[in-house]
Amino acid sequence: MKTLHIFGVTGSIGQSAADIVLAHPDRFSVHTVTAHKNVMKLAEAAKQLKAQYAVIADEALYDDLKAALSGSGIACASGAAAVTEAARVPADISLMAIVGIAGLKPLWAALEHSKAVAIANKEPLVAAGPMVMARAAEFGTAILPVDSEHNAIFQVFDQNNKAAVERIILTASGGPFREWSLDQMADATPEQALRHPTWSMGAKISIDSATMMNKALEIIEAHYLFDMPPSMIEVMVHPQSLVHGMVEYADGSFLCQMGASDMRTPIISALSWPERIATPGRKLDLETLTILSFERPDFERFPALRLAYDCLNKGLAACIALNAGNEVMVDEFLSGRCGFLDIAGKTSRIIDGSNYDTPQTLDDVIAIDQDVRARIKCAIVETDSPKVSKNS
Ligand code: NAD
Ligand code: MG
Repeated sequence: MKTLHIFGVTGSIGQSAADIVLAHPDRFSVHTVTAHKNVMKLAEAAKQLKAQYAVIADEALYDDLKAALSGSGIACASGAAAVTEAARVPADISLMAIVGIAGLKPLWAALEHSKAVAIANKEPLVAAGPMVMARAAEFGTAILPVDSEHNAIFQVFDQNNKAAVERIILTASGGPFREWSLDQMADATPEQALRHPTWSMGAKISIDSATMMNKALEIIEAHYLFDMPPSMIEVMVHPQSLVHGMVEYADGSFLCQMGASDMRTPIISALSWPERIATPGRKLDLETLTILSFERPDFERFPALRLAYDCLNKGLAACIALNAGNEVMVDEFLSGRCGFLDIAGKTSRIIDGSNYDTPQTLDDVIAIDQDVRARIKCAIVETDSPKVSKNS
């Protein structure tokens, strides 16, 4: 029996994890579940999973959560600090499934107090990869990648023959705009960008898939997780989303992991590692496969990809700026306040205009993240104001 905390239980990854726990009640015992604002869904998950503790990140929702859990015997708390505090309770595994940099402090705490962290939440790895890896090593905490590409590579990376690894390949579906021109993308709406062809996911990562910023974040994530130089990390567009990641070796072998495009496979693989147990999710039906295709991504139409390599060359502060700028711009796009191409465009400009010393500590990372967010919001207001005054 493994004890488990699920951070972000109400999200797409969190709900898939809940499904797995319900399918294996003899394997997993859930201690804590957390969410941002959805009290009813959090309370329901806490009861279903027989958790002992539920935390809602929005401070103001404490009374609602308490009421929703009344009579259940499940303790509760609210506020961002309480989410982080919950990660200080020892567990076998903490599943990090919060979206965005909001997951950084809980991850930081879990790295000290959990035996293993299963990481879906890629943004903290992008912004603080070196610190996260060092902290895992310091406390002997296993890092189990959940992001499907990284989970695939984790499964086929021969740690005993690292010198024979020639490259790692992250596959990409290409997103909903794989075949769109830049002109078409200029007018893309949030509804169009949210319609992912092969995966069903939360809003932020769906937009990231449409810009291919998701793959950019994953290049950086792979760099830290597998300690590979950027030149040995490649992306191949694979629209069928069945081969999730590959490692090419010097002897000509390509080891890859395949599976249905269902996140329950990488999640259960991480949660049951080093064992393998039955997924409640979909399985690949080989007989329905007619084609597996791979093509190089188009860096002109998807400039976010180039940003990943540029930022890795520039250093950690640039990676923080990439992540923070993108998070702000995705919100702007989803709220209808900017165009689709502005997401990578304005993020790129904020990186170019950044000049920070290399962060050494978690506080340095948080300070740069905050500063970039403030600067990009300022830049948005400045570029928007002439339009406002002209119309008024
Ligand atoms: P989602 O939007 O569906 O869920 C996000 C979860 O985080 C929710 O439970 C929400 O309540 C919580 N949350 C949001 N903001 C928070 C805050 N400020 N404080 C505390 N909790 C907060 O997102 P998702 O699609 O499940 O993705 C979660 C993470 O996993 C992301 O980093 C994403 O990139 C990564 N990921 C997702 C998938 C996928 O298939 N969905 C695949 C690979 C990686
Ligand atoms: Mg992925």
